Amino acid sequence: MTLPTDPTANLAELIRCPSVTPAEGRALSVLQGMLKALDCSVERPVFSEEGTPDIENLYGKLAGEGPHLMFAGHTDVVPPGDEGAWKHPPFAAAIADGQMYGRGAVDMKGGIACFVAALARYVKTHGRPKGSVSFLITGDEEGPAINGTVKLLEWAVKRGEKWDASIVGEPTNPDRLGDMIKIGRRGSLTGRITVNGRQGHVAYPHRADNPVPGLMQLLGALLEKPFDEGTVDFQPSNLEVTTVDVGNTATNVIPAKATAVFNIRFNDTWSVESLQAEIHNRLDRAAEENRLRKGAEQPVDFDIDWLGRPSPVFLTRDEKLVETLSASVEAVVGVRPELSTSGGTSDARFIKDYCPVVEFGLVGQTMHMVDERVALSDLETLTQIYLRFLEDWFA
Ligand SMILES: [Zn+2]
Repeated sequence: MTLPTDPTANLAELIRCPSVTPAEGRALSVLQGMLKALDCSVERPVFSEEGTPDIENLYGKLAGEGPHLMFAGHTDVVPPGDEGAWKHPPFAAAIADGQMYGRGAVDMKGGIACFVAALARYVKTHGRPKGSVSFLITGDEEGPAINGTVKLLEWAVKRGEKWDASIVGEPTNPDRLGDMIKIGRRGSLTGRITVNGRQGHVAYPHRADNPVPGLMQLLGALLEKPFDEGTVDFQPSNLEVTTVDVGNTATNVIPAKATAVFNIRFNDTWSVESLQAEIHNRLDRAAEENRLRKGAEQPVDFDIDWLGRPSPVFLTRDEKLVETLSASVEAVVGVRPELSTSGGTSDARFIKDYCPVVEFGLVGQTMHMVDERVALSDLETLTQIYLRFLEDWFA
């Protein structure tokens, strides 16, 4: 069997699988073929949960004596949108002007194609590594992310798997390959404030309690001053109000309720609990200082609900992982990458509970866009960086 050492060929095969979440689209089967050629064991657990589509996942492993490195990622892709708007069809892997076009080119079939090629080159030159390399690949990253990485990690741990380090191959570079390694993420917390008033006629406001000014005062208290100034490793925490809802279609009625939802991306100044406490404090103070109606004795009556699952902030300080990857990038592209904690959440937030994790992949500029594409030279460069990393990490 020929070894999958060519990232461009690997990526073309993967792009030709229309694996829009939740469809497997043969993408995992194609990857399985490549991993089999590398003599990896491969399993394909399917996870289900009521109300969500069943999802196929893949766990592949080249087992050996020594440290265990996990490469993590996803083969599912976001929908192409209007296919007519693409210069080249989204699932054809067309090459033009030194670029390969296709959905998933950078997010993140490209990262997978490069890591497979790097491992193939490693095996070809050095034989099996002194340790294990595993592939933790989900088909549910761009969807609800319920039947993917979280369950795959639990499934693997139950079978006795343990990892020493993990690289997630998401596109982390803003402009040029080698710009940025992500070593952590801000946390994310979402809350809904409901102000309870009393409905009434606009002409008789003394008989009603308008919740709208109360909601504005509470939101004002949240937005008034920054939560912090940022830390050595993180940018300042930031709160955004994402919706304000009253749903009142009548122009002569004071509504009974007003709600608003906010999301805050927070740094390592806070834990989920301390941040919730700070938000409660600000709201309580504003409620105490304000009234829904002139002369009323009651403070503003409000409830707060925390929505979804908050994700805590994390930072990876593993010297061997971060330093080996930084040095590999520098050796190949000649520049030291920035170690960053910026951007949205990723599956790294789940992996960090099991082993140190960093993210490094292609240039993210065209991800989720029409004409998603990757420079063929970037595929080769990333493969060389991953190869260098494998050589040094297993040395
Ligand atoms: Zn992705």
